Amino acid sequence: MREPGVLAFRVTVPRPYEDQLLCLLWECGTQGVLHAPEDGAASVLIAYFPGEAGAETGLLDRLRSVPGTQAEPVDVPRVDWVARFCEGFHAFHAGAFCIVPVWDETVPGPRTLVVDPGRGFGTGTHQTTRLCLACLERLAAGPGLGRVLDIGTGSGLLAIAALRLGARAALGVDHDPEAILSAARHAQLNQVSLPLLAGDAGRPLQRGRFDTVVANLTAPLLIEKSLELDGLRSARGRLVLSGLLAVDMPDLCDAYGSLGPLEESRDGEWAALVVGPTGT
Ligand code: SAH
Repeated sequence: MREPGVLAFRVTVPRPYEDQLLCLLWECGTQGVLHAPEDGAASVLIAYFPGEAGAETGLLDRLRSVPGTQAEPVDVPRVDWVARFCEGFHAFHAGAFCIVPVWDETVPGPRTLVVDPGRGFGTGTHQTTRLCLACLERLAAGPGLGRVLDIGTGSGLLAIAALRLGARAALGVDHDPEAILSAARHAQLNQVSLPLLAGDAGRPLQRGRFDTVVANLTAPLLIEKSLELDGLRSARGRLVLSGLLAVDMPDLCDAYGSLGPLEESRDGEWAALVVGPTGT
């Protein structure tokens, strides 16, 4: 079956004219160009354009205007990318947790997180999610997590992990209705009670009520909302922040440095920051 809305052309161009052809492809609105194996003295490119079959004639004429160039439409097979992703998804360990896809039919245990990988961000494969999991584990082993707020809950994975780690209660917030549905499904799959709220970061919430506020967002958003997030935690509460690159850390430390002790952690180019007391 063909992918609707996408046209693809196989274009063979003498190497001296390749740059001219590439300029023309971008001028014509290509969405991407792949180099196929070369054919003698010619380069072979596959170029993708938005559009339905039948719209290619004018485009082909323009591409053939480059000297020595041949161009022909090729099929773009339809791929179910979610199914393709799921095929490659297998159970794995993230810190103390085992993250298991729903089709493994595992009974949820104290350190098992069941995920439906096709839905929402937060399958545990991203470094920032794992950094947050590791911070939650450290806090659970120290002062305890208490009441947890998960801002930008996505699939709800961090809130569910917090409950598995002994949090007294957890609440998930996300501004994306799809994420709320995904989190509700994941709460059900993991057999935990997770209230969810659709809203922008901490705005819908009362101040000072949470012992642990986890927010895996982006560096600019965390910086913009530093006072809003800080206001959500209780007097001895702490923030667990990620979604940031290690290079963002100085700006984050500027924004949060006056709000409590800071503890950084890293995984490759990604980083997390805990703000507030982490001892017992
Ligand atoms: N907590 C999950 C998902 C993080 S992805 C994990 O760690 O794996 C970031 C999530 O934040 C997305 O679901 C996105 O919809 C949500 N988000 C981004 N900006 C937000 C905002 N201003 N208010 C609430 N949610 C937000």
